[in-house]
Amino acid sequence: MKRIQIAVPSLGIEEIKAVQGPLESGWLTQGPNVKEFEKSFAKKHNTKHALATSSCTTALHLMLAAAGIGPGDEVIVPSFTWVSTANSVLYCGATPIFVDINLDTFNISLPETLKKVTSRTKAVIVVDLFGLCVDIRTFRETLGSEILIFEDAACAAGASINGDMAGSSSDAAAFSFHPRKSITTGEGGMLTTRNSSLANIAEKMRNHGAEISEEERHNGPAPYLLPEFNLLGFNYRMTDLQGAIGVEQLKKLDLFISERNAQASYYQEQLSDLGFLSLPSKPLNGTHAWQAYVTRIIGPNASQLRNQIMEGMEANGIATRPGTHAIHLLGFYANKYGFKPKDFPNSYIANETSMAIPLHNQLTRDDQDRVISSIRKFNI
Ligand SMILES: *Cc1c(COP(=O)(O)O)cnc(C)c1O
Repeated sequence: MKRIQIAVPSLGIEEIKAVQGPLESGWLTQGPNVKEFEKSFAKKHNTKHALATSSCTTALHLMLAAAGIGPGDEVIVPSFTWVSTANSVLYCGATPIFVDINLDTFNISLPETLKKVTSRTKAVIVVDLFGLCVDIRTFRETLGSEILIFEDAACAAGASINGDMAGSSSDAAAFSFHPRKSITTGEGGMLTTRNSSLANIAEKMRNHGAEISEEERHNGPAPYLLPEFNLLGFNYRMTDLQGAIGVEQLKKLDLFISERNAQASYYQEQLSDLGFLSLPSKPLNGTHAWQAYVTRIIGPNASQLRNQIMEGMEANGIATRPGTHAIHLLGFYANKYGFKPKDFPNSYIANETSMAIPLHNQLTRDDQDRVISSIRKFNI
């Protein structure tokens, strides 16, 4: 029987053709294709600037560094997210302050966030987990204008809430194009912002801190000139091969999202009567990107039952995964800050009981029916 994967990228002849351009021209690093990808990404997400990076993690680091986040600063992050949301804060020498999530959305809790604000709080990184956007306007109204609101939109390309596209209403956002996300460039990321001075600094920091880009220098009139370096930068550039793939993937984003929404609705229809299963919520007014379809097992012994179901589905050739991890349980963070599992109770529960089931653009209705009947077997 065919194995059903948790996530599979969707690449076609368009992407294969697109990489021929840079391969033939020999311009392999950040160049015209990256520029085109950035332009269409900014337009699609209704934001002024988009800067392609080597990953979402480097985009997160870049946006914090460009905003001047450093030692002594506190940055609030959810305790249930991919580890790099918190790592990026430590890269800057700042302190991550963890906040619990809402179990119905898996996203950061606003009341819990308020409790953790101090005079050292410089920023909050909200995470649009699994493609469900955080309502950033409400965060902004509640937190005031002194605290920067950054958005880890790794999973949220093409998503929206209350008319705001992901990445359009935060001070800056970071997207991912890892193969596990809805559109991919192999590895890759994008920083979006409306703030031109932040974009300007981030653009230089992305390229070693150089005042002018490689392309400008290459095409410039003065061969003896090297750029000035006035900032500590990094090499976080995207290759032009990836840029070319990104342009084609972005054209397919709306189609991918509508297919993902149809799959999510079918799961909702077929699984909502199961007493042991809590299904993911949708935005009341907005588009869920469904980077992943993450359920939760509920009831007594939920954690053991979750593991049994995952084993049972694996035996049926169906891949499942925990949604993501609770950061305070990871060795590095638990040791560094002395966290106990119940310090963030909802994150702990999500860590122990969440289960992502297959959802991707290669999944067929038959595959979904197999997933559904495999879960329904546990309805005893
Ligand atoms: C995938 C992911 C990241 C990391 O993205 P990379 O492009 O692999 O660096 C960060 N945050 C969240 C929430 C993610 O899902």
